Amino acid sequence: MQIIQVASELTPIAKVGGLGDVLMGLSRELEWKGHDPLVIIPFYGVINADQLKEDGRKEWFETFPYGKSLKASISFYRVNGIRIGLLDTEDGYFRKRRTIYGDGDEITCFILFARAVAEWILATQRSPDVIHAHDWQTALLPALCRLYDHEKRLAKVRYLFTVHNFEYQGFCHGHDLERVGVHPDSFGTLLQDPERSCLNLVKAGLLSADYTTTVSPTYAHEVVEGIEARGLKTIVHSIQDRFEGILNGVDYSYWNPEVDHFLVERYAAHQGARVVLEAKRNNREVLSHQIGIPFRPEKPFIASVTRLVYQKGVDLLHNLFSRAEEFDIQGILLGSVPDPRTERLFAELDTKLRSEGRGAIFLMSDEPFAHRVYAAADLFVVPSIFEPCGLTQLIALKYGTTPIVRHTGGLADTIIDIDTPSASANGFCFDSPDDTSLNEAFCRALKHLREPVVREEVMLRGMLQDFSWHKPCNRYISLYQS
Ligand code: ADP
Repeated sequence: MQIIQVASELTPIAKVGGLGDVLMGLSRELEWKGHDPLVIIPFYGVINADQLKEDGRKEWFETFPYGKSLKASISFYRVNGIRIGLLDTEDGYFRKRRTIYGDGDEITCFILFARAVAEWILATQRSPDVIHAHDWQTALLPALCRLYDHEKRLAKVRYLFTVHNFEYQGFCHGHDLERVGVHPDSFGTLLQDPERSCLNLVKAGLLSADYTTTVSPTYAHEVVEGIEARGLKTIVHSIQDRFEGILNGVDYSYWNPEVDHFLVERYAAHQGARVVLEAKRNNREVLSHQIGIPFRPEKPFIASVTRLVYQKGVDLLHNLFSRAEEFDIQGILLGSVPDPRTERLFAELDTKLRSEGRGAIFLMSDEPFAHRVYAAADLFVVPSIFEPCGLTQLIALKYGTTPIVRHTGGLADTIIDIDTPSASANGFCFDSPDDTSLNEAFCRALKHLREPVVREEVMLRGMLQDFSWHKPCNRYISLYQS
C-alpha cells in the first residue's frame, strides 16, 4: 500500500514531542512490513540538512494561497531509511520560521501547509491508497483534498486522521483561513466549533476522515466519556463506530540501550541484571561529571524528560524534585517549552539542587541528552494530569528505569503497579493528581529499590516487555485496508 503520512513533526529532523517519534516509528514499521510510506512535513528552517540523505528528486507544483500562483516544491530525502518529502514555497515561508511552533502564525502556517499538500497530490496525479493526517495541523487535509478534487481522482483514497492530543484543536477564525485562500464557507458548517463561536480544525478532521484514531484505548475511552473530549464529546459520539484508541509503539531500533550510540556504555536485558546495573552506574557516573553534580551511586537517582506544561504535572514535578534532600535522593530533570514563570521557578530549583549536591534541571530540548538521562536513572517520574499515550514511560522501561506514573490515559494502559498481583507489573502508579498521592507512590518506589531481588526482576521484566510498533502497526494496516 502507498501511504502518505502528513504531519508537523518527524523525529529526528523536526521533533518537539511524541508526535515526531510516532511518525518515524510507524513509518519504519510499515516499510518493514512491505508497505510504501511517505512522510510529508514542512521544510522548516530549523531542519538540519546534515541529517538528510538526498533522494535527488524535487517536484514543482503551483499553489494559490494568495489568489495568485505561488511556486512550491516537495524535495525528497531519506531519513533513517524512510522516504520523506519536505514542502517548500518559493517565498521561503516555512524556511523562515525560527521554531516549529510558537512563531505566532501557526494556524496560517499549517493551513497553508495542508492546502499545498492537497494541491501537490492532485497536481502530480498521485493516487495513494491512504492519506493519513495527524493532529490539528493537518486535520483539514481530507476536506481540502475532496474540495480540490474536481475530477474525483481521489475517490478511492482512504482518509485516516489521528488525534494525538485533544487539548490542541486548532481553534481559529475565518480570516485565519482566508489569509491563505481557504474559505470556510466552502465547507458548510464542518468547521464550526460545537460550543464556542470560533472554528475548530480537529472537529473538521473527525467529521471528514473515514476513520479516526487516538493514541491509547484508555484515552479513547476518556474522550468518549467526555472527560478528555474538550468540548468535542457530541462530535466523537457521532463517529463512535469509526473511532478507536491504538496504543503508540516505541521504535526499538532507535530507543534501545543495546544499540544507543548516545550512551557511554550500552547494555541489554539478556546480559542479566548485574551487567545492566553496572552499565547504568557507569552511564550515571559520566553524566554526573558532564553536568557538574557529585556522583553518589548509593543515592537513588530519579529523572524526568518532559515538556514543562500543565498536562505533564509540572507542579507535582517541582514539589517532588524540591524535596530531594529530604528523600535523600539525586535527580535530573530535562524539560522543554517553559513559559517565563515556569522557567524562573525551575531555574531557582536548579540552583537549590546544585547547592545541595542533589541534582540539576536543564530547561531545553536535547535529544542525545535525553537518551543519557533514561540510561542513567533508577526511577522515572511521569505525574501527568492527563496523558493521551505517553512515550517516556515506555522508553524508561526499555532502559531499565522503573516508571512512577499517574493512572490516566496511556499511562494506565502500560504501567501496572508492582504492589498488585500481576505477572506484568512494571512500575508504580498513583491516582489523584496531588502531592500526597505521588509521594505515597514515590516512597513505595524508594523502598522497592532497597530490595535488590525484586528490583532486578522488575527491571528486567520492563526491559523485555514488548511495546514495539509491531502490534499497533498491524492494527493501522487493517484500518488502512478496511
Ligand atoms: P508529548 O508528545 O506529550 O510531549 P510523549 O511522552 O508522547 O509526550 O513523547 C515525548 C517525547 O519527547 C519522548 O521521545 C521524549 O524523550 C521527548 N522529550 C520530551 N521532552 C524532551 C526534552 N526536554 N528534551 C529532549 N526530548 C524530550
